[in-house]
Amino acid sequence: MTTPAQSALIDTVIARFGPQAAITDPADIAPWLIDWRGRWHGQSAAILSPASTAEVAAIVALAAEHRVPLVPQGGNSGMVGGATPPGDGSALLVSLRRMNAIRRLSPDLAVAEAGVILETLHDAAAGIGRRFPLTLGARGSATVGGLVSTNAGGTQVLRFGPMRNLVAGVEAVLPDGSIHDGLAALKKDNRGYSLEQLFIGAEGTLGIVTAAAVRLVPAITDRAVAWLGLARPHDALAVLRVLERQTGRIEGFEIVNADSLVKVLRYIPGTRAPLEGEHLWHVLVEATAHDSGEEPSAALLERLLAPLMGGLVADATISASEAQALAFWHIRDSISEAERAMGPSLAHDITVPVDGMPDFMIDGAAAVERRFPGAHASCFGHLGDGNVHFHVFPPTVDGQGWIAANGAAASRLVHDLVIAAGGSISAEHGIGQMKKDELARLGPPARLHVLAAIKRALDPDRLMNPGKLID
Ligand code: FAD
Repeated sequence: MTTPAQSALIDTVIARFGPQAAITDPADIAPWLIDWRGRWHGQSAAILSPASTAEVAAIVALAAEHRVPLVPQGGNSGMVGGATPPGDGSALLVSLRRMNAIRRLSPDLAVAEAGVILETLHDAAAGIGRRFPLTLGARGSATVGGLVSTNAGGTQVLRFGPMRNLVAGVEAVLPDGSIHDGLAALKKDNRGYSLEQLFIGAEGTLGIVTAAAVRLVPAITDRAVAWLGLARPHDALAVLRVLERQTGRIEGFEIVNADSLVKVLRYIPGTRAPLEGEHLWHVLVEATAHDSGEEPSAALLERLLAPLMGGLVADATISASEAQALAFWHIRDSISEAERAMGPSLAHDITVPVDGMPDFMIDGAAAVERRFPGAHASCFGHLGDGNVHFHVFPPTVDGQGWIAANGAAASRLVHDLVIAAGGSISAEHGIGQMKKDELARLGPPARLHVLAAIKRALDPDRLMNPGKLID
């Protein structure tokens, strides 16, 4: 039910900014009320859709006046329910998707509005012979505002780091409607706390990001992707260490469990296993060149991998064309989609120190399967960053019922193991509503104290993305 305060806000927004500034047809709103995995279902009487920073500022100021909570939303590809409004309809969604201009493009920097889709940014940078070096499976829908707000990672963190390393400046509207403009992207600016860093990873709880200045790097002149079959994750990490000692050109290093590969081959049309034989573990390695004078990437991979064959590496194939490189990446990028098609599971985006990750993958999965007979644990992801997606699959009969009965306990076990290994319960997806209770349970206290103090100071009325990250 729309409250009088919400109605007043929606009417004022339409009167001031036109009918396109507020979507009120329930059929148009419906797809944006459910998260990508279909786990959270919210309610919102309207989607407010500002077209400029000034409109965002006016909407936030009006919302503060009417005491209406707001939930910022970009592409709605987040994995922790952060962009799904509360189920009681108390908040309104604010979509940044109409703010989709690239305001500035220079060899070193792109200034993109919050609603620019990652793939569009990639294309724009490529258009001037440069590259934005962050990519992920949802690049066709994830937006700059969402990427900043989740401090997204992806498959090139190994070389370029997550969003925190790539954002040079942020423009954002604070909960009182004032605008922080950091788009000058100063190389040096020591006026106390970094407001840019505060907004990166804030998940919409401190205000609305309206634009970001992001760093660009040289375009690649050539790349090759190798697909390896291995016996153990320990061998995978050893391979990475060998490669890193010999070249600075490794950009992607993704581990894929045999289970994940089988799911992709079963559920994603047109995929084919890269290797003939069966292997317990697979690794995708990407090498790139930024200068046509460099040794071709395929030759580099062949030269570096040859001594490892029959030892750390059981079998390998190197892409012979860009089409084959894309096909290998398509397998890796489709794992989440295949798992979604398969049915319900418990997802954990976790990190531990890199050297401890192989043991964690084996021992953690064994611990979960021992405690929950019939369940199956499987991981894939960014081994070189010490970050894997550790998923627990329920027994095949009544998976949903099993999750309702055991899901919370199984996730607590996974998170306890992560903390015992010196890690974090969120590596790149954030906390959202999915992990809020676990963050509160596992702290640590100093972190919780600072998060809560910042939230109270900037958003005392708790109007920005309520119920997410921290209460
Ligand atoms: P949304 O889902 O709309 O929002 C995410 C959060 O950011 C919410 O809390 C929302 O309130 C907030 N937010 C959005 N826009 C703004 C804004 N303008 N101002 C303030 N707050 C805002 N993530 C990774 O890090 N690495 C991966 O490898 C990866 N792979 C993925 C693969 C698939 C197939 C899918 C579906 C998702 C994947 N993700 C990955 C998760 C997701 O793509 C990222 O979290 C992404 O950054 C979300 O962007 P979005 O625009 O969809 O944000």
